[in-house]
Amino acid sequence: MQCFKNEFHRERSASLKLRRNFLTCLSSWKAPPRIPRSSQSEALLSIANNGLPYAPLQTFTEEEMMLKRTVERFAQEQIAPLVLTMDENSKVEKSVIQGLFQHGLMGIEVDTIYGGTGASFFSSVLAIEELAKVDASVALFCDLQNTLINTLIMKHGTEEQKATYLTKLATEEIGSFCLSEAGAGSDSFSLKTRADKKGDYFVINGSKMWISHAEYAGLFLVMANVDPTRGYKGITCFLVDRGTEGLHIGKPENKLGLRASCTCPLTFDNVKVPEANVLGQIGHGYKYAIGMLNKGRVGIAAQMLGLAQGCFDYTIPYIKERVQFGTRLFDFQGLQHQVAHVATQLEAARLLTYNAARLAEAGRPFIKEASMAKYYASEIAGRTTSKCIDWMGGAGYVKAYPVEKYFRDAKIGTIYEGTSNIQLNTIAKHIDAEY
Ligand SMILES: Cc1cc2nc3c(=O)[nH]c(=O)nc-3n(C[C@H](O)[C@H](O)[C@H](O)COP(=O)(O)OP(=O)(O)OC[C@H]3O[C@@H](n4cnc5c(N)ncnc54)[C@H](O)[C@@H]3O)c2cc1C
Repeated sequence: MQCFKNEFHRERSASLKLRRNFLTCLSSWKAPPRIPRSSQSEALLSIANNGLPYAPLQTFTEEEMMLKRTVERFAQEQIAPLVLTMDENSKVEKSVIQGLFQHGLMGIEVDTIYGGTGASFFSSVLAIEELAKVDASVALFCDLQNTLINTLIMKHGTEEQKATYLTKLATEEIGSFCLSEAGAGSDSFSLKTRADKKGDYFVINGSKMWISHAEYAGLFLVMANVDPTRGYKGITCFLVDRGTEGLHIGKPENKLGLRASCTCPLTFDNVKVPEANVLGQIGHGYKYAIGMLNKGRVGIAAQMLGLAQGCFDYTIPYIKERVQFGTRLFDFQGLQHQVAHVATQLEAARLLTYNAARLAEAGRPFIKEASMAKYYASEIAGRTTSKCIDWMGGAGYVKAYPVEKYFRDAKIGTIYEGTSNIQLNTIAKHIDAEY
């Protein structure tokens, strides 16, 4: 064992020496983080009041700008130094979660009377994007809490439920959204978990799969069917506290990416839930889930966009500095065209995402646009991160630098909150109705 350790240390110091010969721009995980130079961050100006009849999509209010800058600083100073460790340990650091709460990022749209930030949906989108530039797993905590959990309770909760749960969710408690099951993924409304009424409470039996953050959550929003004879019209949403007898949280999955964001199976073994913990109306759970996932998809689009931009920001300085055949990599026209292509796709993904978010905020139809944004941003995140590895060569392929992790993290975008095929189905359904 000792021999193995010595060997390990010898190899490690040799590889560190080698790494010192790498380009200065190629900061390893442990180096102080660099502020990413995303294409837009300097150009963002709040010009909405400058007399323009129509503001460009990348126009932010003062409040949105402030939040964006706060998140950027928080991500660089407090998250970036921990990203490698969190990925290696498959565990988010406590300080990161505390930081999310302290900066008001877990209750962005929640009213200040419940301890929330009282900001806009667009602010949530910007926060998710900024966090994902540094770590997509951390962005997911912010995303699910804001776009799914809080939104559901704000929209459908009673005053009492809001006072009890929103207050905690905005300040200290993580929530989990429990819809998917082993037999109900894309076809989520075929779920088999049951809730049977007994007097003034319900008894839940069944199981869920792929539940994000279940290991840390204090509250579970559980979709269960109260009357399977009514099909999906029996689906009802329940607020289930952690620690409720019969609720078992399984071992986190060992995943390709998003490793710091745990994903667990759950089982419900005669879990008693008071009638007062039904969220909204009995049998309306499917409607709530559909409505909420539309907003959720804009959140995932922002996560994928941020991730892709973060990876691009890391890679470009490298290819501007590295020399082969006596020339900077960036000066090869073959490479320039690839970079320009990816940058254009990133810009298009940003515009789709921001437009869907602004439409949602304005109360206008946005379902098709949300699906387009999620579909496109996810596909682009996969392509951008893959290209970044190509451009960096061997340095892109090793765990010493972040590009490899961006690539692994990107894959989830085409799967959760509706796979790419499911987004295409939604888009096609709208086109069918429009013509
Ligand atoms: C990391 C992670 C986190 C997750 N977090 C949560 C969570 O917090 N809460 C939660 O409830 N769920 C969560 N999920 C579940 C996620 O939403 C599902 O995995 C997703 O909806 C896909 O379902 P599935 O895995 O069963 O795939 P399937 O539905 O089996 O799909 C497999 C393939 O078949 C295709 N397909 C299926 N139906 C159609 C169709 N009609 N037309 C064309 N193609 C089709 C799909 O596009 C896909 O390519 C998470 C999943 C992961 C991996």
